[in-house]
Formats: sequence, structure tokens, C-alpha cells
Amino acid sequence: MVEHQCLWDPNYPECPERFTRVLERCREYGLVQRCVDIQPRKATSEELLKLHTPDRIELLKGTDGSPDAEALEAISSGYDAIYIHPSTNELALLAAGSTVEIVDAILDGKVQNGMAIVRPPGHHAMKSEYCGYCFFNNVAIAAQHALDNKGVERILIVDWDVHHGQATQQMFYDDPRVLYFSVHRYEHGAFWPNLRESDFHYIGSGAGKGFNVNVPLNKTKMGNADYLAIWHQLLLPLAYEFRPDLVLVSSGFDSALGDEKGEMEITPACYSHLTSSLMGLAQGKLAVILEGGYCLKSLAEGAALTLRTLLGDPCPIISKVDEPSLSIQQSVLSAIYVLRPFWECLQFQGRFDVSKVGSKKEGTYFVPSVTFEGSDVKPTTFATRNCYPDQNRETINLLDQRLDKLIKETSLAVPKHRLCFVYDERMASHRNVNEPGHPERPARITSIYQKLLEYGVLDRCYRLDARDATREELLWLHKADYIDEIAVTAGKKQSTLNQLERQYGSIFICPDTYNAALLSAGSSHQIVESILSGESRSGIGVIRPPGHHAECDEAYGFCFFNNTALAAKYAIEIHQLERILIIDWDVLLTMKFTIITRYTSWYNVLLSLTDDIMCDIVPRILSLYLGKLY
Ligand SMILES: [Zn+2]
Ligand SMILES: [Zn+2]
Repeated sequence: MVEHQCLWDPNYPECPERFTRVLERCREYGLVQRCVDIQPRKATSEELLKLHTPDRIELLKGTDGSPDAEALEAISSGYDAIYIHPSTNELALLAAGSTVEIVDAILDGKVQNGMAIVRPPGHHAMKSEYCGYCFFNNVAIAAQHALDNKGVERILIVDWDVHHGQATQQMFYDDPRVLYFSVHRYEHGAFWPNLRESDFHYIGSGAGKGFNVNVPLNKTKMGNADYLAIWHQLLLPLAYEFRPDLVLVSSGFDSALGDEKGEMEITPACYSHLTSSLMGLAQGKLAVILEGGYCLKSLAEGAALTLRTLLGDPCPIISKVDEPSLSIQQSVLSAIYVLRPFWECLQFQGRFDVSKVGSKKEGTYFVPSVTFEGSDVKPTTFATRNCYPDQNRETINLLDQRLDKLIKETSLAVPKHRLCFVYDERMASHRNVNEPGHPERPARITSIYQKLLEYGVLDRCYRLDARDATREELLWLHKADYIDEIAVTAGKKQSTLNQLERQYGSIFICPDTYNAALLSAGSSHQIVESILSGESRSGIGVIRPPGHHAECDEAYGFCFFNNTALAAKYAIEIHQLERILIIDWDVLLTMKFTIITRYTSWYNVLLSLTDDIMCDIVPRILSLYLGKLY
């Protein structure tokens, strides 16, 4: 796909190096070698005719191999931002066909996800009009194919190219099976393709109303914070509610830092995050298709980091994410305003009565409005030369330096082990002797262990040895007197322990409790050590007794030492970490405590419920989690 180039303007931005530089960078990172090679093929007439008119297909076919550059330029001038090369027909067919092929490979289960490094791009190619370097709409053709031939019911198309994929929007505008989500530079219509229909209030028509989402960028220099805000506030809520069977990305890297067309500032590493958050949808069936991107360095880097993420490598850390800009807040709120009637997930945002706006303080409300600064007049012929921005040398150099610095500072280290795992059956010795059916019982961890064995997960894990937490470690969070109190229970007679345990809430103690609690806490430290030393990427501790209710001087709610809090402390003390996020998704026991205290009679019902849930659902949640980690 390197042959297609402009014969009359050597500086044309849609150039063969776009293709070669991306491939080169992917090879340098050793990524291409890890991919399954899908053989390119030409799109068939049948595939093209689903979305394009016969005359556009024939016209391009007629230019195939033509030696007459003058004639090619004359034809090109009939379209907005188009050049035709003798190889264009062949390669446009190949780009479209290969996109279909990659979608097939994903839907047939041959590959988990895929990336098509193709050109010419596609998202501006309309039904009967070539436009913006595009001839056939690769992504739209593949989407239509998936709907027609592969039993796919819902497709999410995310278009992060800096230009609005107006053609893709048009093709599925009334189709509720395709949720088209585009983020694009707009500047109220002043930016190409200067269309009214690229604004936020174009949300689809007929049955497709609510399934077309435009997030116009009305200012330049939008960065990671802005894009992440769009993802978290709008795209992901809609995507989860939509539940796509397939996700396609119209992946233009002209939204990247350094691109003189886009003038946006997404860093290459941020594309990893944008990609990664889409991988949780549609069972990971995700195809990323190259569209634009004209700063060769950021294009190549962004594309390589995207591919790397598709291959399952961890997302690189991105620098501090600031508050999203006011302009993007307005764009997101505007989109929410018009989409709200169609989506449950958008019902949380507050609304206010416009008639009462005057009584509110300035800045506490937002009223969406539409301004259009584009032109509705469409020319009949278009410039074919010198039609691209001309950034000054100084700006280009500065951006180039910023890019170099970012690339140099971005760590792409991948730990040797994907997942470490710790389990020790000695933690099953801790048990409620007086009430063997107690929910916090040894079977909780032994059954998880059995399930993990059964699913073959353990073969893929890096096994760590459990160890006791040291007294010094426990002292990070627990009082010395309290540690002693628990320590003396070790090996004591059960009758004595029955007395002792009464001083705590929801606690049972047996002669093995102290040792199990030490192992439980120490094992958490083992995992953190393995991850932070760079040995493992993530880890799982199948441990008990649990920890998160344990207070500094009191055992509580089945917990003795606070495993997770101690693990966090370990990261701080031993590895000098500055920021740790603890997510606590435990809910059963928390619920139960509320119910025990408030409605004692429900206690038994919940106990029997937890009997099943503990043994059956917990391993499933775990395996889901493991699936994600793999
Ligand atoms: Zn573009
Ligand atoms: Zn709990």
C-alpha cells in the first residue's frame, strides 16, 4: 500500500511514509512478529455496492494503471482533498477488503482483536463521492458486512481521527444497530469538512435516533485529560448500555501531539488507554483500522502503542491528567443534553429549568447552543496542490522535541510473569470449631483453589510461596498490644479461645487462627513485592482470614490483620510508592453486617445465601478477573 502517492505534489500529507513508518515502528518494538498475519485481499463488488454507487466504483476502476497524470489530476479536482494515482483503485480495494478480512478473522474466533494498517483511509468516502483522501469506506464496509453476513447485531464505531467521519455517519445515520461515536476538531464548523452535520445535535434519524454521537472539539490543543473525560463521561457509559457485539475504531492519529492538521495534543501513550478501555467490550472483539495521521513520528508511535495494547501489554503511565478544558466540558454536556432522552445511563445528570436560569449564579448551569461558522456553499472544483497547513519551523521543532522527550520517558517495560498467585492450605486451618457451617470457612479458599486448577488457570500463573508477616510489618498499622493479644491465642485450648473471642465483634478464633492471619497478611506482601520488583505484572492472593474490617487495635468482622492496608503500607515503606489506589468491591459481608444489625431475623437467610455464593460465584468472579488480566 505504499504505491499510492500524489504524482503532482510531492508534499501531499497522505503519503506512503505514513504506512512504512508505522510498520517500521511496530517492527522495532517487536510487535509485528507477535501478530498473526492476515493476508490482504481486494473488496468484492458486492461488498462495495452495499455502501457505494456503481458509478464511483467504475470511475476509479477506469483510472487503474492510467499513465496520464494530467487526466488523473483533472478527475481528482472534482472531489474535495483527493488525488488519484494509477495504483489507487487497486489499493483502495485492498484496504477495504483487508478490513473486511480482519473483521472476519475476529468474528470467526481466529484472533482476539486486530489492527489494519491500511491506506488509502476510508471514513470520508461517501456513498457516491470520494472525499478527504478516501475512496471506499473501509470501516463502514466491514461493519455492513458484519451485520449482513456474520450475525452481528450491534456495532460500536469509535472514530478518534481528528476529522469528522461524515461518510460513516451518513451511512448508518438511521441504523440503530450501529452506534457511531466521533470526536473531531470542529471549531463551530470552521474546520474541515466544515459541515453542520458534524455538530453535537446530529444524533441520527428514524430508528437510528440517539445512535449517532458527535463530540465536537471547538478549540485546538485538546489533550489526554479532554479525551479521557469524553471516554469516561460519555463513550463508556453509552458503550456499556449499547452492549456491542463488535467494536471498530476509525483510528486516525491526526489527533496526536505534533500533527499540524489536528493541532491536538494526545500523547502516543494515551492511545493505549483509549484502546484498552474498549477492550472490555464485545468480549474483546475489537478491530482498529488506520485512518489519518500526518505527523509521521506521532503517527508511528501512537499506532505502535495501540497495537501493543491490542497484544495485551500493559498501558504505559501517562503524565498527570489535569481537569478537562472548559470547551470540552461544554461539548460533552451538549452531547449529553441531546442524547439524554435515548440513554438510561445519561439520566444521572441534573437538569434545570431554563426559565429559572436567571436566578442561578453564573457558571452553575450550562445551556447548550449551536453556532455555525462554516459555509453551506460547496465548490464544484477543488484545489489539488498545496492544500495543507504550513506550520512554521519553530513550532514543528518544539513539537518534535516534546515528542522525543515523551517517547524517551515512556516506560514500556513488561514484567516476566503475567500473573503471580499465592495460596497456602495452612490458611484453611483457621476455622470456626463451634459452628462449622459459618460462612467464613476453609472451603472459601479451597474451593477457589480447586476451580482455578480445574480451569487451568494455575498452570499459567507464577506461583509465589506464602510467608508470615513479620511483627515489624504488622506494627505499621496494628498496635503492639493488639498483636500480642492475637499472638497468644496460637495453640491455646479451644475453651479458652471461646472466652477470648467474645471481646470482638463477629470473630471466631481457633488454635490455628494466628498463624493463618500471619500467612494471610504476609502473602499479600509477597504479591506486592513480586509486582513492584518488576517480576510480575499483577497478582492474586487466595487468602484468609480476610482483612478489610480489621482495625488497628481490634479484630472485627472475620478479620484480624488488615491484609490490603498492610500491602499498601508495604508498597509505601519498602518501595516508596507515592500513590496507591485501593478498590474494595467486597459487598456480601458489608451487606450482611448492615442486615445483622438492623434486621436480625434475616441473618439465617443470608447465611444460606452466602453458602452458595461463596463457593460458586466467587471463583467465577475470579476467573473473569483473570480473563481480563490475561
Ligand atoms: Zn483525519
Ligand atoms: Zn466483606
